Amino acid sequence: MKNQEIADIFGRLADILEIRGEEFFRVNTYRKVARIIEDLSADVADLVESGEILDIRGIGKGTVAGIEEYLETGGMRRYEEARKSIPKGLAELLSVPGLGPKTIGLLWREFDVKSIKSLKRTLRGKKILELPGMGPKKVENIEAGIRVYESRSGRLTLGTVLPAALATVAELRVATGIDEIEVAGSIRRWRETIGDIDILALSSKPAPVIKAFTELPRVVEVLAAGTTKASVRVSDGLQMDLRVVPPSVYGAALMYFTGSQAHNVRLRGLAQSKGLKLSEYGLFKGERRIAGRTEEGVQKKLGLEFIAPELREDRGEVEAALTGELPGLVELGDIRGDLHVHSNYSDGHSTIEEVARAAKARGYMYVSINDHSRSLGVAHGLTIERLLEQEEEIARVNQRVKGITVLSGTEVDILSDGSLDFPDDCLERLDVVVASIHSGFQQSEDKITGRILSAIRNPHVDIIGHPTGRLLGTRPAYDVDLEVVMAAAADTGTALEINAYHERLDLNDINARRAVEMGVRVAISTDSHHVDQMWAMELGVRTARRGWLTSANILNALTTKALLKVLSRT
Ligand SMILES: [Zn+2]
Ligand SMILES: [Zn+2]
Repeated sequence: MKNQEIADIFGRLADILEIRGEEFFRVNTYRKVARIIEDLSADVADLVESGEILDIRGIGKGTVAGIEEYLETGGMRRYEEARKSIPKGLAELLSVPGLGPKTIGLLWREFDVKSIKSLKRTLRGKKILELPGMGPKKVENIEAGIRVYESRSGRLTLGTVLPAALATVAELRVATGIDEIEVAGSIRRWRETIGDIDILALSSKPAPVIKAFTELPRVVEVLAAGTTKASVRVSDGLQMDLRVVPPSVYGAALMYFTGSQAHNVRLRGLAQSKGLKLSEYGLFKGERRIAGRTEEGVQKKLGLEFIAPELREDRGEVEAALTGELPGLVELGDIRGDLHVHSNYSDGHSTIEEVARAAKARGYMYVSINDHSRSLGVAHGLTIERLLEQEEEIARVNQRVKGITVLSGTEVDILSDGSLDFPDDCLERLDVVVASIHSGFQQSEDKITGRILSAIRNPHVDIIGHPTGRLLGTRPAYDVDLEVVMAAAADTGTALEINAYHERLDLNDINARRAVEMGVRVAISTDSHHVDQMWAMELGVRTARRGWLTSANILNALTTKALLKVLSRT
């Protein structure tokens, strides 16, 4: 569904017109269109096709033409033209909290402000106070906004950065004709948050690669461009660094720029102990380079079996690789289904049939529908009646869609006293019971641990959802004694979740590893609220790999038959 993308385009168009100082009614027309499209419950493409879109107040023929153009080409000419009519850096200023398009336009016209840098300079001057509506207080607010913006752009979640990183690499491959372009850095290790994007390209002629990189449409500002490397800022304030290296050193450079630093230090020490020297330019014996072309080549010469990038954190991987004891890590292809997906029965946006078809398209054997339970009013939690209705709908979808098994489930709330939001006879009917905490985050460690323990001890609960409750960058984990939780889960055979939603990744890598060490089975689930989010399974699998997990540790790597046997334990 392209609703959000299209709404964003119209919203940005309104911003640009406002920056340019155009009349209020034109700006406002686009803002309204953005809001209308954002709030549509149906797919905008369907409404365009049926012509029903013209029945919506506030949407005219011109707008529809723009939407059609976007659906066909992935772009909108009037937006592209508007974007080119203002300096590139102005778009980035829109991300500064408290700085609106009107003020940005004023600062641009009066003081030639085109970037964060020139904005900061202008704010320090005296002249700015002469602008209408600009007092010392407002200047202070904007400066505070810049600080928030800069701290936030320090680290972003992997899930928000990954699409831009992969798209950039793909665009660069097309623009340069070079295949060997890869994302390195913490993205290649699939760390949960990312500081900047490191890209490595293999070429003996770096100049055209650097040029293509700095001219990519998403680039807002070129920070530096040398003969073999360049740094740019992209629209959301993120920095991208490109390095171009010749074939003879590509593998060594890839290792170096993938990190982690601690892992690289360990490898350099290992090289030294063998009388060798390791750097980004290769592995050397005296002056002679004995490896460097590929990562495998360098690692082999160091006596190591290949270490997957996700493991390169200096958590024992080098020692294990020396003795051939690295685990055979779980892969995306091992995953047979998703055991935590919401539908439009609660706060999801896809129908059960859409979920079934999306799961089938991913090659899964099964998918389970786990909507919220009745107490979670904000998320349209299901009453018992609705839960029973849903069960019937699931049976119908299983009839209609062949080649996938839709399991009936719930994400039942663990209430603040530790009881569950549905009675046992209700839970007993369901295939997959995920139990999660969504309230009372402030309770003491004893209380919260106790709540989770009572859920674990309920024989109908199969999985504890997002076990620590953290949201990356916005909410810390609640106080919970995970050791106690894991011991109990191992005891009852209850699985703990790696919730793959990019802001959760909960359990994280370290906790997942500990869980498995303690004999707990892990379920990797996306907690999708729309079928477009089901791709996040990869984030969960990569997190599991960072936790050294193999497919034998994963509940949803089981076949349908084996899974149902495990779930129906009595
Ligand atoms: Zn939840
Ligand atoms: Zn959920």
